[in-house]
Amino acid sequence: MTTDALIIRENNNIGESDRFVTALTRELGVIRASAKGARNIKNRNLAATQLLSYSRLSLHRGRDKYIIQDAKPITVFFELRGEIEKLALAQYFCDLTAVLAPQEEPAEDFLRLMLNSLHFLSQGSREQKLIKAVLELRMLSLAGFMPDLSACALCGALNSDTMLLLPSEGRIVCKKCVKNRQSSGGLVISSDVLAAMRHIIYSEFEKCFSFKMSETGLESLSRCAEVYMLSQLGRGFKTLDFYNTISSQFAGGRNENSKPTLDE
Ligand SMILES: [Zn+2]
Repeated sequence: MTTDALIIRENNNIGESDRFVTALTRELGVIRASAKGARNIKNRNLAATQLLSYSRLSLHRGRDKYIIQDAKPITVFFELRGEIEKLALAQYFCDLTAVLAPQEEPAEDFLRLMLNSLHFLSQGSREQKLIKAVLELRMLSLAGFMPDLSACALCGALNSDTMLLLPSEGRIVCKKCVKNRQSSGGLVISSDVLAAMRHIIYSEFEKCFSFKMSETGLESLSRCAEVYMLSQLGRGFKTLDFYNTISSQFAGGRNENSKPTLDE
């Protein structure tokens, strides 16, 4: 069969010429596959089976995995390879997809979300924190972890200056009801962060990346989406830790450069 697929993991075993990949396919969801001789530099399947390549694969089913007979690149996100911060974020997206996307089932929506996220990330046409929050919240929602952000879970109030997000429950409670709760915990979210989260989750796909926020707003949105993801999945990702480490270093560098210099 032929299917379009994004390569989300690439394993090259030492001493073998075959390349083993994990791919997010349109028709079959997440699959494991091997490409014969794909590590050979002359092999024409080389670029098409590299991490973050979006390719058309010709496959047949082997005993425990698929065999890639032919691969033609459609889009190779070259821009991502040159920038460590973007590459780190893209690798985290891939890891999240490997966990959340279905196996042996169509995954058109997951693929579209990934391709759009990688496109915006490589073009630099959206802030990284915005792309990250959209990918996390939309993908969790696709996988059955959609939070209920419509109203306060206790009194039904739609808005309040601050709401509390309960990450493990996937619900929000308003300022008034917080006092009446027995248990503590939860993330304070401002009304603009709540509005952004609602937009991401409830808008049509075509619009989910289209909104603007201040840098502090995005910082807070990104943190909320991440805490929600970690709490719902009950696990972390090494690639996420790595991204957060280098992202804060880069941010430090950026702030350093933006400091006004003194006239002498
Ligand atoms: Zn309430």
